[in-house]
This record gives sequence, structure tokens and C-alpha cells, in this order.
Amino acid sequence: MTSDEMVWDLSQLVEKTDPPSIQKKLVSMVDEANRIRNMYHDKIKDLNTKELLKLLERKDEFILEFEGVNMYCLLMYSADSTDNVAKQLNDAVRKASMKARQATAFIDIELGKLLAANPSMVKDPALAEYEHHLERILRKAPHMLSETEERLIIMKDRNGISAWQMFQGDWLSTRTFDIEIEGETRTLPYGKIISLYQSPDRDLRRLANQTVYKDLGKDEIVWATAIRSVCKDHMQMCELRSYATPMTQSLIDNDLEQKTIDSLIKTIEKNVGLYQRYLHLKAQLMGLDKLANYDLVAPLPNAQQMDYTWEEGRKEIEAAYTQFDVEIGRWVSEMFEKRHIDGEVRKGKRSGAFCASWLAGKSAYILQSFNGKMGDIYTQAHELGHAIHAYLGSRAQKPSNYEVSSCIAETGSIFGELLLTERLLSEAEEKEKKQAILAWILDEFGMAAFQVSARVFFEQSMYDAIKQGDFLDGETVAELWVAARNRIYGDSVDWLDVMKWEWTMKPHYYIANYRFYNYPYVFAQLFVFALYRLYKEQGDEFISKLKRLLAAGSSKSPHQLATELNYDITDETFWEKGMKQAKEFIDMLEETI
Ligand SMILES: [Zn+2]
Repeated sequence: MTSDEMVWDLSQLVEKTDPPSIQKKLVSMVDEANRIRNMYHDKIKDLNTKELLKLLERKDEFILEFEGVNMYCLLMYSADSTDNVAKQLNDAVRKASMKARQATAFIDIELGKLLAANPSMVKDPALAEYEHHLERILRKAPHMLSETEERLIIMKDRNGISAWQMFQGDWLSTRTFDIEIEGETRTLPYGKIISLYQSPDRDLRRLANQTVYKDLGKDEIVWATAIRSVCKDHMQMCELRSYATPMTQSLIDNDLEQKTIDSLIKTIEKNVGLYQRYLHLKAQLMGLDKLANYDLVAPLPNAQQMDYTWEEGRKEIEAAYTQFDVEIGRWVSEMFEKRHIDGEVRKGKRSGAFCASWLAGKSAYILQSFNGKMGDIYTQAHELGHAIHAYLGSRAQKPSNYEVSSCIAETGSIFGELLLTERLLSEAEEKEKKQAILAWILDEFGMAAFQVSARVFFEQSMYDAIKQGDFLDGETVAELWVAARNRIYGDSVDWLDVMKWEWTMKPHYYIANYRFYNYPYVFAQLFVFALYRLYKEQGDEFISKLKRLLAAGSSKSPHQLATELNYDITDETFWEKGMKQAKEFIDMLEETI
């Protein structure tokens, strides 16, 4: 399946597309970064309000001026990494942006010091547009060390704690697994064997899980040493940077308060029964008494193949968004008309999907490999939701106010998936189709809201154990993982014994300075289910509220954004709205049985 319409047009991002012109533009980017450095380095501490405003505006202009050329090079490479020009430009843009970043890295550090010394500046009316941006910098300031220390940490981390992450990734990707498929023993790398987890053949799914985790468990000493080192390093850094808890740093990065996460997690714990009810229904649909771990995200056995051409998929998605709001529907169409979506399947193309905001063009670009399956149109609807977020945000905000916290960044995208669900359900006549759609959306909800919560419990329990003086060897970490997992699943799922090694393969646990990556997924999922519930309750009145929320970008905190909807996200009442929506989908599924 391919046509010109499925290939994006990147030429809109730049004035000239010939490589020498692109290179020239990259050189001028580094020059401008150095000019900013020469003008401001070591001088930010003395700026008055007016001068500070000038600096902030210049920083934003800098981003807008060179955003297109950066995107052009990076997107071209992600679309085809075998293309020689793309390779050269990718290399050039990485070098240039590293130089530009190095030249301007002092700005936030010096800004933090300026604001810490003059906190009232944050509230100065002349800086009103940047108020929340400055609040976020001020919140980070007390945890920053001196410039020399910060540089030393970056330098030492590269071959220190960050090396564990690389080691875990390299070790995992170079493992091979022997598995018998249709009477023949095959040796598969990790990246290949995991695709068998989705196989319609239940025995094969079981065997793939059994094989992978049994083998990964044999290297427990490797994984445990790595995860223990990353956790211990983090606890030392928390002490050095005066973070109150191991979660504090991520709360600051995500623009949240502890109370919010406490109420979110409490809501999850109160509702594990609801998720378990779905898992029982899914078992019933699969003709089983109980699901095993390798059935959790498996396709339903009676699921009808739902295939779409590019045009058919486009029609469904445009209709889903237009039914919600005509302006949004028009922007979705524009993404297709202007050829901002790359759907063609080709060699050398990056796997997965993403949406890159193009603030200067008040638009976005999407990459995916479109094979016409139901999952592909869900992916497209999801990425188009990100694009709508960028359409609204870039029209209302400067780049400094469009650094959206990962908790809010998925609002447009998950909401779009729900709009598509509504549309597909309204068209589905056979019950098998309805079941496939509902299972799709509930599997995703279950994984993001509940399964990921187990990972939050797990991560927290490792820090608690270290604090208590426990030594995290492989078996101890495995026990912590099983305990965390059971808090979510109870006895609703049968686990293979080797699944106690599930934590070994998750790259996020090993990424230095990226602790508690997990709860934003839980937040985003339940937040959007709650918003969708409000839409169902309030009807059309809600549409402008959602558009305002998306248009706010990062100019307001998630807490403020919810307050404008008359909800308090530190209160469980709000999160229960999301559960109510999940319950409605589960009820709908039950009715089909
Ligand atoms: Zn997304």
C-alpha cells in the first residue's frame, strides 16, 4: 500500500533544501548561539526586568528561527537512515545543536540564580507572559549545584552511571534465544522474539515468554548490579541536591505536587478490582477460566480482521475529530492535505511512530508505518491528537510556554483515540467488532493506568529497601517486583514463575537521572479518561474548555489547568471520573457477551 499522499513533504520546513544551504543555516545557528553567549554569559545576575524580558524573547526567537532546519535534518533521517544525504545532514545537525546547547546551557543556571536572589521578579507584570516558565526555573534553583560541580557531574556520569544504561541496553540487544517454532529450532535476537508475545497461537506466546525470561534470569547478577547502582547513585544525588524524596526531582520536572500523585495512586489502588473485572471478561472472551500473563495483551481469538486503506482510515479519523469540533476536524484534514504525515512503509525508516511539533509553522509532522490494521489507524488518530495540541499551543504560546509536562502532553492524543473509539463503535454492527474495539482501548487503559502503577510501586520499594539497609541482589529485586505486581493483579492472572525477572529488560529503570519515568503514563491515561467523562457529561460546553487547556501549553501547571475545569487533581473525586469512564467501557463489553 503506497501513494504519494503517504509520503511527507519536508520542504516546507526550510527556505532552500539543497544541502549546502542547509549546512549554512546550521552554521548560522551556532553563530547566533555564541552571540547570545557573548552577550549574556556571567551577566544574567545583573539583569533588570526589562533586560530579562529581552533575553527571554531572544531565546524564543532563536528557537523559532532554527527549528525548521533542525527538524528538516532529523525528520529526513528518521524517514530513511540509508539515504546518504540524510546521513550527512543528521550528523551535521547533531554536531551543530550540541554546540548550540553547550553555548547556551548557562542561561537556565544563571537565570535560576538571578530568580533565587530576586524571587519577586517572577511576579513582575512586565514578565507576565513568562510567569510560569520562570516559576519552574525558580523551583529548580535550590537543587542546582555550582557550575563547576554540574559540569563535573556531567563529565563523570558519561563513563559512570550512564554507562550502566548503555551496558544494560547492549547486553539485552545482543542476547539470542533458542525457540522451537513448528518443529524447527530457531535462534532469535531479543527484538525479534518479543514479537511472538502478540501471536494468536497461545502455546507460542507461552513458550516465547518462558524462553526469554528464563534466559534473562540466568544473568540476574548483571541486571541486579546495574539496577542497584542506578538506584544508589540516585539516592546519593538526592542527598547532594537536597531533594526531599527520590520522587521529588521528577515531580519538579513534571510540574506537579506530591499530593497530586498520592491521590492518583490511591485511586488506582482503590480500583484494582475494576481492572481485574475487565481481565476476567477478557478471559471469558478468550474461552479461559483465567488469563495467564502471556494473554494480557493478546488479540481476541474471534477478533475480526479490520483492515483500512489510507483513504478509509483518513475518512474515519477526520470524521471522528470533526464530530467533536469542526475547526479541529479542519486541522486534521490540513495535516493530510499539506502532506505532513509519512505513512509509507520503507526500509531504513525508524520503527514506531511520533509527532514532532513545528511551532514556527504552527503545525506538526507525523511519522508512522501504515499497514492498514486497526492499530495503525489508532496510532494515526493518536499522533494527530498531538498535532492538534501543537496547532492550538503554537497559536497561543511562545516556545518557552510550550515545554509541556509529559503528564499533559498526551491529552490531545489519548482524547483523539477515544473520539475514534466512539466513531468506530457507532459503526460496528457485529458484536465481535465491538469487542475488538473495546478490548483495544481497555487493554491500553489497563496497561498504562494499572500495569505501569505496579512499576511505580516497584521503583519506590527499591529505594525503601536501600534505605532500610537491604542489599538488592537479583532475588531481592525479583521479590520486590512480584510484590508490586501482585498489588495490582491480585490472583486474577496466572504468572509463569520466570516472570519474576520481568524488571530485567525495562530500559527505563536503568536510565540515569530519569527516575520515576512511570507515573506520568498513569496520570495521562486517567486524566484523559476523566476529561472524556466530563465531555460526555457536559456535552458541547466542554469543547471550548478542552481547546483552552490544549492551547495553554506549559504556561500553566497541570494543577492550574484542572482548576480551570473546576476540578482539583489533588482530590480523588477528579480521578474517579476517569475510572467511571473505564467502568462504562467495561459494562459495554460485558453487554456483548
Ligand atoms: Zn503520544
